[in-house]
Amino acid sequence: MNKLQQLFPSADGNQQQRDELLGHFKTILTKMDELKDPSKLTLGEMPNYTEDYYNRIIQSALVPEKGVSMDVTIEKLMDLVKGHRFLNSNYVANATPLPNIASILGNLVMVLLNGNNLWDVDGSAAANAEVRVTSMLSKIIGYDPNESAGYTTWGGQGAVFNSLRLAIARQFPESNKEGIPSNLYCFCSELSHFSLYKSAEATGIGVNNMVRVKANDDHSMDLNDLIEKMEEVIENGGIPVYVLATMGTTDTFGIDDLYGIKQILKDIEQRHNLEPVYIHADSAMGGMYTFFNDYDFKNNPLQFEEEVCAVLKQYQVHFQHMNIADSMVFDFHKLGQTPYITSLFLIKDKADLKYLDLDASETPYVGSRGYGSYHTSYTLECSRMGSSISIYTSLLAFGLEGYQQILANYLLVNISFRNALKKEFSNVELTNGVSPVTTFRFYPENVKWRAELDGNLTTTEVTEINQYNEDFAELIGLERDVIFFGNTKKQRLISVTDSSKRLPVYVHKFYTTSPYSTVEEVHRYISFLKEHMDIHNKSLVLI
Ligand SMILES: *Cc1c(COP(=O)(O)O)cnc(C)c1O
Repeated sequence: MNKLQQLFPSADGNQQQRDELLGHFKTILTKMDELKDPSKLTLGEMPNYTEDYYNRIIQSALVPEKGVSMDVTIEKLMDLVKGHRFLNSNYVANATPLPNIASILGNLVMVLLNGNNLWDVDGSAAANAEVRVTSMLSKIIGYDPNESAGYTTWGGQGAVFNSLRLAIARQFPESNKEGIPSNLYCFCSELSHFSLYKSAEATGIGVNNMVRVKANDDHSMDLNDLIEKMEEVIENGGIPVYVLATMGTTDTFGIDDLYGIKQILKDIEQRHNLEPVYIHADSAMGGMYTFFNDYDFKNNPLQFEEEVCAVLKQYQVHFQHMNIADSMVFDFHKLGQTPYITSLFLIKDKADLKYLDLDASETPYVGSRGYGSYHTSYTLECSRMGSSISIYTSLLAFGLEGYQQILANYLLVNISFRNALKKEFSNVELTNGVSPVTTFRFYPENVKWRAELDGNLTTTEVTEINQYNEDFAELIGLERDVIFFGNTKKQRLISVTDSSKRLPVYVHKFYTTSPYSTVEEVHRYISFLKEHMDIHNKSLVLI
């Protein structure tokens, strides 16, 4: 074996090379385990992020003249690991998963095979897994697996972009050649993810033609406002091509009424003689809860708590209509406990893809040859990673029930956190409904949430409360290596008495997706908040 070959896995499956590779894996796992501490968020100490931190890296980085040994390489690798946040029970900031073991194995096999998911000749495993998970998940959400199509792509945001492009191309097939008409419009809730904003820019539809619909108090889209704004667009000569229905808003888990949206669109299409308006269900956050679509709440075989069942039943009402959407997405790297990036974009009718497919003469490398029967020339990517393999292994290892259990646990921990928070603080309000995320807002004195929602406060008052919360977030953020809470500057918009401009509301976020975040941990989260609230209020008195 020559020196270069030593840098690679074996060609013949010999034991010596296998043992060497295994040895490296073992070293890495051991060193990472040594850094783990369940009472801390980080693996070892957090680096001191001085102002010149990245600048110093820029100065010192250089490709070595001669390659270093694997031991030194691993040492350098471990330097990257040190201080990294580890997703144990101390991380309650966002839907950020600790990848489960089956998904890690799937990912490893993906890398070892290094298939190119662009076509099956170069990546048979990924093609097989992609077709499999597309069928599995189509069956869960109620798409006909013989008619649906799916592919993994660059996140929930990629799914939004792909769907908007599909919507435009479906209605204006010539736009691929001629560019898009200037009077196309898309609609979304004012609380939807910024994915559509970027997609409006990138497709050329233009952000000015993205209409933001008001949200209700439960953070779902206000359907009357949708009708009003759509009518206005049509009246002015615009053509609605696309509605984004958010199934679980990123910060508050608000769920749009997909069924209601569809009824409205049917009516408007008929009255104005329009082509069907495309609906993408942005289920990046909430999609996993379709796993309860067939759950038997009457017999409750997994014995979920009553309060948990009540929420799940409410979800079922919405998620059972997922199959109304022209497309949707499963972001497994959010609530599905898999590594980045594992997003499956699902399309109800695969015939729609013909509007995006490249002409055979334009793809000289793939597809136009006599062999291979799966090639994804309709994706925006050319080479693609086979991330469907980790989705596949996770679905196998968890099964429907495993996912139901972990998804129910998110709710249980949140219910417990909400109860404890209300019990321990007199100056806090919970500002969203029970879900995998709890948003909460503190007040310098009395709780004024109701008055805020009713628009009874002044700009100054709301701004002061926002500042009080932002300062508190800064304070607890200093100790984010102990417990890491999330926050958002704009949970929603509220009216004020002295201006027509609605103001954003600053809140804290408690988001649990770690399997190690259990009900038993809740008292720790509360104590952490209490200690810091004391410090916060004392510092205010001093000023
Ligand atoms: C997270 C999120 C996205 C973006 O998904 P990525 O996987 O991060 O690209 C889009 N929409 C919603 C509702 C989200 O919560």
